[in-house]
Amino acid sequence: MGKTTGFLEYQRIEEGYLPVPQRLKHYKEFVIGLDEEQARIQGARCMDCGTPFCNNGCPVNNIIPDFNDLVYRHDWRAAIEVLHSTNNFPEFTGRICPAPCEAACVLNINNDPVGIKSIEHAIVDRAFEEGWVQPQLPKHRTGKTVAIVGAGPAGLAAAQQLARAGHDVTLFEKNDRVGGLLRYGIPDFKLEKSHIDRRMQQLEAEGVKVRTGVLVAGKDGLGKGSKVTNWSRDTIDPQTLLKEFDAVLLSGGAEQSRDLPVPGRELDGVHFAMEFLPQQNKANAGDKLAQQIRADGKHVIVIGGGDTGSDCVGTSNRHGAASVTQFELLPMPPERENKPLVWPYWPNKLRTSSSHEEGCQREFAISTKEFIGENGKVTGVKTVRLDWKDGKPTEIAGSEQIFKADLVLLAMGFVSPVQSVLQAFGVDTDPRGNVRASTDLVGGYATNVPKLFAAGDIRRGQSLVVWAIREGRQAARAVDEFLMGHSELPR
Ligand SMILES: Cc1cc2nc3c(=O)[nH]c(=O)nc-3n(C[C@H](O)[C@H](O)[C@H](O)COP(=O)(O)OP(=O)(O)OC[C@H]3O[C@@H](n4cnc5c(N)ncnc54)[C@H](O)[C@@H]3O)c2cc1C
Ligand code: SF4
Repeated sequence: MGKTTGFLEYQRIEEGYLPVPQRLKHYKEFVIGLDEEQARIQGARCMDCGTPFCNNGCPVNNIIPDFNDLVYRHDWRAAIEVLHSTNNFPEFTGRICPAPCEAACVLNINNDPVGIKSIEHAIVDRAFEEGWVQPQLPKHRTGKTVAIVGAGPAGLAAAQQLARAGHDVTLFEKNDRVGGLLRYGIPDFKLEKSHIDRRMQQLEAEGVKVRTGVLVAGKDGLGKGSKVTNWSRDTIDPQTLLKEFDAVLLSGGAEQSRDLPVPGRELDGVHFAMEFLPQQNKANAGDKLAQQIRADGKHVIVIGGGDTGSDCVGTSNRHGAASVTQFELLPMPPERENKPLVWPYWPNKLRTSSSHEEGCQREFAISTKEFIGENGKVTGVKTVRLDWKDGKPTEIAGSEQIFKADLVLLAMGFVSPVQSVLQAFGVDTDPRGNVRASTDLVGGYATNVPKLFAAGDIRRGQSLVVWAIREGRQAARAVDEFLMGHSELPR
């Protein structure tokens, strides 16, 4: 604990944002990180608790009190080593993690929590600036080969861990660039893609081979009429991979979007969020798109109140939408949580994202009954208000309303991974359609198919980047143990 009285002396400071009119003009990141002295002072607020709940609240179990203390003591180089010991990609989590660690911080019981995420952000950015992030080559090579299907955060974390253990790792990715939802989901204004490219240089220098534009699938591909992003030029059959590699890890995410099958769903202008968002990321990367779904001058309705919906709001405002309205089925949560009741868990409270602040009307306890259109194009959304009692909604008679809409974006989450790919691997699924594999210490991440493992959203269902990194790391250890009989990789 750097400063015993730090938590009494210093207040929490938040990272800053560029003003709304300025940031709406571009797709670049707009967060102004803490400077060195601010990060030091924030680190000094850490109480170095005997039982650091933050460390348990963080899915990768970042050793938070230690890096807080090191930052306070100006030892940034040791701080990045501590951070990297549990998290392969703090530059992603330091930007886009919702920070369950901060909800669990002991200071959060009766004060503002330590700004853990902002300190993490400062440490990793400094480490890259100083050139401290260098390839870590394995001491020996094992001669074992591992195929990883899907280059999102789970696949990338697993690839890095397995390459460092000396295995010959090949990443197969159907899209034209690696990163999964970091690349083609999360907008650039939350995470610029140069962070992925920079980290990939390290992975490739460590020996990871990358094959983009390759879909791993059986004869049914991604299924008939699939709307899942797919910029592949080539296909490999799963059975070929299983034959040619010593182990295969599935980390293909949970890409099947939840649909809203109400009358008018077929109208032009009603799209999944995941048709809309990846296109903008591609355009930002300089790619020419034959046709882009755009919100310019349109009345946009975003259906779904979560992160994906919020990203649609931010992107629509950057396009220059005439209005943006976001629907949420559930009632409006309380502005503040009852801390003594919910700490150290993730509280249910109203969350206003930076995208909401840029302009958005938010409607809660509302259900969509129909999409209305003219000449095949959507012109409105018919809704009804809901009365929630004991967790059950009832439609309020006479509350029907029509919202004007030229573009409707469905952001209601994801139901499961793509089933046809799982069938082609012959892998068992759980009742939600995710790959069935436990996280047990022994035999964890292994599927019913010999030498086939699974990690990330494909196993746990739609989740968070930090959980994907955790699963990728733990699955890498399981694969290493399977190949070598033992493993020194951390779990
Ligand atoms: C719009 C949006 C915003 C989000 N914002 C946040 C956020 O702010 N913070 C946060 O923590 N989480 C966020 N999430 C969730 C987070 O992105 C995911 O939980 C995380 O990326 C899952 O990682 P993954 O590696 O398991 O899968 P993914 O990131 O989905 O990556 C899977 C990869 O596998 C590839 N693939 C799939 N099938 C095949 C195949 N058959 N052959 C070859 N390649 C294949 C896919 O193309 C993809 O690149 C967001 C999600 C979305 C959709
Ligand atoms: S990865 Fe997320 S949960 Fe873990 S310390 Fe960083 S911000 Fe907190």
